[in-house]
Amino acid sequence: MGLLRSWVESANVPGADFPLNNLPCGVFSLGEEEPRCGVAIGDYVLDLAALEAEDIVAPAAHAVFDLPFWNEFMELGSRVWAEVRIDLTDMLKEGSPKQYLLTDHLHPLAEVTLHLPFLISEYTDFYAGKHHAMNVGTMLRGAENALPPNWLHIPIGYNGRASSVVVSGSEVRRPWGQIKAPDAESPIFAPSRRFDIELELGAVVGQPSRHGHPVTVAEADEMIFGYVLLNDWSARDIQAWEYQPLGPFQSKATATTISPWIVTKAALEPFRVATPAREKPLLPYLQEPRPLLYDIALEVSLTPDGGRETVIARTNYREMYYSAAQQLAHHTTSGCPMNVGDLLGSGTISGPTKDSRGSLMELSWGGKEPFAIDGGTRSFVEDNDTLTLRGGAIGDGYRVGFGDCSGKVVPALTDPWSRQ
Ligand code: CA
Repeated sequence: MGLLRSWVESANVPGADFPLNNLPCGVFSLGEEEPRCGVAIGDYVLDLAALEAEDIVAPAAHAVFDLPFWNEFMELGSRVWAEVRIDLTDMLKEGSPKQYLLTDHLHPLAEVTLHLPFLISEYTDFYAGKHHAMNVGTMLRGAENALPPNWLHIPIGYNGRASSVVVSGSEVRRPWGQIKAPDAESPIFAPSRRFDIELELGAVVGQPSRHGHPVTVAEADEMIFGYVLLNDWSARDIQAWEYQPLGPFQSKATATTISPWIVTKAALEPFRVATPAREKPLLPYLQEPRPLLYDIALEVSLTPDGGRETVIARTNYREMYYSAAQQLAHHTTSGCPMNVGDLLGSGTISGPTKDSRGSLMELSWGGKEPFAIDGGTRSFVEDNDTLTLRGGAIGDGYRVGFGDCSGKVVPALTDPWSRQ
């Protein structure tokens, strides 16, 4: 399939993130107005709340778009997701007789504020990229013991915090925490000195599962509504001291930044690719009924305060060992119910080469090999650095992009308990 041409000219520009093939879902506001649902097309957002009010699109008996989240629309299920996508595609395509109905409801992206696109019920973070697990494991335990014995059998994860998920553009404050240097006898309480990013893709759960009833991988794939870019900010020095035996806790709870647009599974369908060859056979409940990953080119850039942006890593989502559908199926094996609005982090997406590593700890090899940026070097994030993730699936003459997932790190509070 090639570019679907739209009467919105900026949607046809080669390399644009939001051609008609994409139609990602976001929440926007204009001035003092209430946030509501829209889709991105070219340089615009199409106001779906307005289209719903005029009965131009009407997916439900009650309003689902005049809300500051996509959850109620997601609850309507995949048949409705497909119907609305077909209707919007038809109305936005070049030569559509319905163009006149929409023109007043397009707002330039440059003039709107973007918000979190959905209410995040819960957030689970996985550790499912093999290159990342090998790199981190080698640094922590040596190359021989890099992969834990369960890694090739279980998509390893931990239950994270939904409360600190923020939208792109939000500032992230450097956290304080307990830190113990390897040669120190006791920990200190101090601002993190090894603050880091993790380049991930987040899967958005759009349909629930029943308490007590595991789902299959095929069912899990059907439950996923779409994907966001996700930066799982990580304080490595806090993590190294706290993580055994129950895994990361405060080191990952400061903030998780997501892109403002949910790219739907429907938009990514042409880019499906298989998971890599299995090194150990997976138990039947985790086996792949069909290709479950996507060919999505990803990059990370770093911009120092007042400086120029440097792309520091390029990788691809197809490097993952486990897909989101396998993670979601595994998540329900205990009978744990999944809800609309659950967010699953893929785990850091590193590639096999040095310049394809999805965290600064890997890029600088634990701070031992600082890497070059415009005008200097870095090992970890410094104050007032802006880190930006970008991603897109590249089709024949078009790109299905996610928009920027960006966050600036501001200095730690001088006194964390002051109430100023
Ligand atoms: Ca993570």
